[in-house]
Amino acid sequence: MKVLKFGGTSVGSPERMKHVADLILPGNRNVVVLSAMSGTTNSLVEISEYLYKGNIPGAQETINALESKYIGVISALLATEEVRIKASERIGHIFALLRSYLNEALTEAGEKEILAQGELMSTALMQCYLEEKGVKSVLLPALDYMRTLEGGEPDMQHIGSRLRRMIDLAPAAEIFLTQGYICRNNVGGIDNLRRGGSDYTASIIGAVLDAEEIQIWTDIDGMHNNDPRYVEGTRPVSELHFEEAAELAYFGAKILHPSCVLPAKLHNIPVRLLNTLQPEAKGTVIYNFPPDGKLKAIAAKDNITAIKIKSGRMLLAYGFLQKVFETFENHRTSIDMMATSEVGVSVSVDDDSRLAAIVDDLKNFGTVSVERDMVIICVVGDLSWEHCSFQPKVLQALEGIPIRMISYGGSNYNISVLVRNSDKIRALRALSEKLF
Ligand code: ADP
Ligand code: ASP
Ligand code: MG
Repeated sequence: MKVLKFGGTSVGSPERMKHVADLILPGNRNVVVLSAMSGTTNSLVEISEYLYKGNIPGAQETINALESKYIGVISALLATEEVRIKASERIGHIFALLRSYLNEALTEAGEKEILAQGELMSTALMQCYLEEKGVKSVLLPALDYMRTLEGGEPDMQHIGSRLRRMIDLAPAAEIFLTQGYICRNNVGGIDNLRRGGSDYTASIIGAVLDAEEIQIWTDIDGMHNNDPRYVEGTRPVSELHFEEAAELAYFGAKILHPSCVLPAKLHNIPVRLLNTLQPEAKGTVIYNFPPDGKLKAIAAKDNITAIKIKSGRMLLAYGFLQKVFETFENHRTSIDMMATSEVGVSVSVDDDSRLAAIVDDLKNFGTVSVERDMVIICVVGDLSWEHCSFQPKVLQALEGIPIRMISYGGSNYNISVLVRNSDKIRALRALSEKLF
C-alpha cells in the first residue's frame, strides 16, 4: 500500500483533477490525500479575516467568488447530470455553512471550521469524478480519524487504529480518498495541521499504516538544489537523506512541510517527491542511506530576527546560557540559530510575536540588541567536518555579503548563515554559482 498526496496546484483545475485520477489508477487500495484547490485556503483565510473585522460585505463577496469558481469546476469536471447534481448538493452544503457564519461573531473554532472546507470540497469532487469513471473509491473522512493530542502532536495510536478499521470495513474499495491538513484537536473540535500541512497528513498516514512509500505529488520535479523561485537553472536532487530533507524543509524549501519528515523517518518509509505535470520524471527520493559526502541543496528561511545578549559577567559565569534559554522557553519561542562568544550570545528566532516581552526579560542578564528582517541561508548535504572543507567554500561564495551569524556543527548536515533579507537573492545565487 502506498500513500499519494496531491497538493493544491495538482488539483487546481478540473483538467488537473482529471489528470490526478489518471495518475492514481489502478487504485491498488492506495490512500490518496488531497489538498484544497490552489487559492481556496487563501480565500477561506480571507473570509475569516473579513468576519473577524466585521466586514460582512467583504466576506460575502469572497464567498460568492469562491462559489462561482466551484460551480464552474463542477460543470467542467463532471459529465453526467446525475453526478453533477450530487456534487452541487455537496458543495452547496459547504457554501451554506460558510454563509451561516455571516450572521454570527467569529470564534477560533468557527475559523477552524471555515479553513477545513477547502480539503472537504476537493475530496467530494474527486469522489464524484471517480464515481463517474466507475471506480470504487471510499472516502476516509479525516475528521473521523485524524486527531491531535493536547500539545498538537498527532495521536498516532488513535489514528492508526481508526484508519485500519475504516479500511478493513471496505474490502471492495479500489482506492481510498482522504483530506490533507484537517484534523480534530484533543477536545474534538475541528482543527488543522498548519498551512501546507497536507504533506504532514500523508506522512502520518504512511507511518501508521506502515506504507511501502509516501509520494508527495506537486508542481515541480522534486527537491531542487536551490529555491527555483529566486534562482535560475536549479536542478532536482535525486536522493536526500531524511536529515537533509528535514533541514531543507525547516529552512524554507517550500516543497516539503517541515513536519512531514519525522513520521516517515521514524518508520523508515521512503518519501518520493514527484511532479504531476511531468509524471515520468524521477523526482527525489528521501530515505536513510550511508554518508555520501555530497552537497545537496540550499534553502532560505525568511523573516528572522536576531537577538544579541551581551554580558560582562559571562566570563566564568556558568548558568548564563541556561537563563537565556529559559527566557525563550517561558515565552514558548523556539530558537533557530545561535552563536556564542566570551562576552555574549546571539540567537535567531522566526516567531517574533513575544519579542518585546522576551527582550524585557533578557535585560535582566545583560545588554540586549535586536535586528529584524534577516534571513537564514542554509547549505545542506553530507557535510562531515573530517572529510571536506565546505565551510571555506560557502564563505568564499558569500564574499562581499555581510554575514551576521554563522552556524555549523549542530549536525553534519547543515551550514547556516544569517544575512540581511535584502541580500537573500544575491546570496542564494552566489552559492548556486560557486557550489554547483
Ligand atoms: P503543493 O501545493 O503541491 O503542496 P507547494 O507550493 O507547497 O506545493 O510546493 C511546491 C513549490 O515549492 C514549488 O512550486 C517551488 O516553487 C517551491 N520550492 C521552494 N524551494 C524548492 C526547492 N528547493 N525545490 C523544489 N521546489 C521548491
Ligand atoms: N490547503 C492547505 C494550505 O493551503 C494545506 C495544504 O495545501 O497542504 O495550506
Ligand atoms: Mg505544500
